[in-house]
Amino acid sequence: MKLVYFDNSATTRTDKEVLAAMVPYTVEHYGNPSSLHTPGRESKFGMDAAREQVAKLFKADPNEIIFTSGGTESDNLAIKGFTWANKAKGKHIVTTKIEHHAVMATCEHLAKNGYQVTYLPVDSEGLVSVSDFEKAIRPDTILASVMYANNEIGTIQPIRELGAIAKKKGVAFHVDAVQAAGHLPIDVKAENIDMLSLSAHKFYGPKGVGALYLRKGIRIEPLFHGGGHERGLRSSTENVCGIVGLGKAAEMASKGMADESSRLTKLRDRMITEVLKTIPHSHLNGHRTKRLPSNANFRFDFIEGESLIMQLDMYGFAASTGSACSTKSLQPSHVLLALGLRPEEAHGSLRISMGKDNTDEDVDYLLETLPKVVENLRAMSPYNENNPMKTDEAWCSKEDEHGHEHGGD
Ligand code: PLP
Repeated sequence: MKLVYFDNSATTRTDKEVLAAMVPYTVEHYGNPSSLHTPGRESKFGMDAAREQVAKLFKADPNEIIFTSGGTESDNLAIKGFTWANKAKGKHIVTTKIEHHAVMATCEHLAKNGYQVTYLPVDSEGLVSVSDFEKAIRPDTILASVMYANNEIGTIQPIRELGAIAKKKGVAFHVDAVQAAGHLPIDVKAENIDMLSLSAHKFYGPKGVGALYLRKGIRIEPLFHGGGHERGLRSSTENVCGIVGLGKAAEMASKGMADESSRLTKLRDRMITEVLKTIPHSHLNGHRTKRLPSNANFRFDFIEGESLIMQLDMYGFAASTGSACSTKSLQPSHVLLALGLRPEEAHGSLRISMGKDNTDEDVDYLLETLPKVVENLRAMSPYNENNPMKTDEAWCSKEDEHGHEHGGD
């Protein structure tokens, strides 16, 4: 059976060219980049080149890039690092209700340790209001953190407008661009972004490596203390081959971005139009146009996202759901709830996230399969009014069937 991988927001397949660029940095150029000898300098050259390639992706300066282990670390370094270094100026942070857990849990941790956090609401399509953002900034606000594009619903925030307000108010602006970097054009200077997080595995690079853009002049404290690598901001011997892979992935993304974005936008729009037309009681989550070219997030009344994912898997599709019937707490996705959906609505969602391997044929196959799968599940659903087996049990009441962890990507 053919695999149709529709889960590129969770992670992407490492590109073969990226892998080829990495391999010499495992078996040939294996020196420690801090060493003065030739093998050490070779590693250092590889890292220097990667720093330039990453910086170019969003028009930054190479010495404004700090390599990390991925998006989660970059978010933690930006938010904890900045608030620790600047606590004398104030202890208030502004963020949103739809951030990834890497930002959300970091803010919650700070809130337990003497900081105050405002979580801005979003509208029914997932957009933050620019005027709410401005109003939330107080004299003691030191940092605002807003994601570029949401990992579940794909909605793209008005980052340029928010950045202009943060600048006007003298508040540092961190952007979690893990889903956007390598897919959307970003200009950190023009958008007034002070710190930006990215992760290589979301744009065809390897897992376990990322970067934080830190604008010149912004002061942060490190999370790790040690040998003083990355200008003292991230001690530990660098993951050279991963960093080289990140650099190559960034270079490839810069080159192909415009064409790939318009190709995916066409696929996405065709998929959305057809699904909504052919499947009754289907809805789109997120904004119709201000969304990642790769992302379509649907919800189907009367069925649960997890059953849908499992049925689609039997046809060869790898997709995901925002329903966190998959978390231990059995809570529906905080993102879908923030859109104003009821918990039972939030449980019926399906996230399709496309990538460069996906084709028109993949979309055709989904359009042929999905209506059948939804119809079959509805026939069995206890939530379907027409089902004689209908019960009034709450959604996701069977904890032991769904008790595994899910990090939320
Ligand atoms: N932020 C967002 C928006 C994400 O989608 C992810 C991905 O899971 C992360 C942060 C965390 O990135 P990583 O898996 O590289 O730690």
